[in-house]
Amino acid sequence: MADDSTGSNIETVAVHAGRQVDPLTGAVSPSIQPSTTFRHPPDGSGDGYLYSRYASPNRDALERALTALETGADAAAFSSGMAAANAVLQTLKPGAHVLVTHDAYHGTLSLLDEVMAHWGLAYTGVDTCDIDAVRAARRPETRLLWVETPSNPMLRIADLATLGTWAAQNGIASVCDNTFATPILQRPLTLGFDLCLHSTTKYVGGHSDVLGGALVTREYSPLWEAVRSVQRRAGAVPGAFDAWLLLRGVATLPLRVRAQCAGAQRLAEALADHPQVSRVHYPGLPTHPGHTLAAKQMTAFGAVVSFEVAGGEAAALRAAANVELLTCATSLGGVESLIEHRASVEGPDSATPRNLLRVSVGIEHPDDLIADINRALTA
Ligand SMILES: *Cc1c(COP(=O)(O)O)cnc(C)c1O
Repeated sequence: MADDSTGSNIETVAVHAGRQVDPLTGAVSPSIQPSTTFRHPPDGSGDGYLYSRYASPNRDALERALTALETGADAAAFSSGMAAANAVLQTLKPGAHVLVTHDAYHGTLSLLDEVMAHWGLAYTGVDTCDIDAVRAARRPETRLLWVETPSNPMLRIADLATLGTWAAQNGIASVCDNTFATPILQRPLTLGFDLCLHSTTKYVGGHSDVLGGALVTREYSPLWEAVRSVQRRAGAVPGAFDAWLLLRGVATLPLRVRAQCAGAQRLAEALADHPQVSRVHYPGLPTHPGHTLAAKQMTAFGAVVSFEVAGGEAAALRAAANVELLTCATSLGGVESLIEHRASVEGPDSATPRNLLRVSVGIEHPDDLIADINRALTA
């Protein structure tokens, strides 16, 4: 098992990328190396490790695995998804303008509002499902296009190939938040995007026990050098154990995501027939406006299902309180299914419908999840 002899199928890549049998001990599981400092020649020569903010063995291994999964040129791991998002935005100069999916992750929009506004960044929230709206919102100082698809929690689908091509043709850097889709379902870098972002807290980690983020680049570029510079200078990097846990998560990512998508499809179909449910948002349903596009650019439709409860906000809150197998909690991507009233989590400025519940489907048997939600809706 030589390092990065990964094979070309993603299940194989997931198990082997970034891993090698320890040459010293023969250990099959990677060692955890917590050292912050590394011996080096006195004149500073050599290209080995120096100091762990700059680079470290477990982080390197994780970065190699994520690079391989996204078929990119390089990756940079961060201590959270938002630290990765912050690094992208800090590559921009004050005065720059960003176009961002208007229903992107709430934390991304609040980072732009609360932190990057002081940096002098302006942004416009735009419907990235509509390329004409994107074109119209562009300004002379637009430097970055930020796309999230499927979006959260409405699961709207934007056309990555069209957007990636448009950005490249106009000299605008592009980043896709690929947290919901994972590289198992969609690969934005192959559709023209410059960068791909992950909250590895979610599917990559997969067990709701580690916070992390990552950026993967399509190519070495001045943009990528700037990202690396923020990572190494600002230092929002994962520790050795976090990187080790995330690499362990990578190995089962394809299996987990496929099982979760199959469960989500079953749940969405069951909810679509439920009398207490007024609307289901899931791209795997033929009635979803993004279904055809999702079928084209994704290998499956994801494992998050949002639905609106016919009885309104009070009924939605009641259902979330009545689940037994699911847990009422925020976040997503773990092996256990979670449900949440998204508008409450997002706060008073949330645009999410008040009667909407979002489910992150785990790897439990779909019949059990459906039974639990049915019972909670009718209790
Ligand atoms: C959770 C999430 C983030 C933020 O990641 P953290 O690891 O919580 O900092 C960004 N984008 C999406 C789509 C997310 O779900």
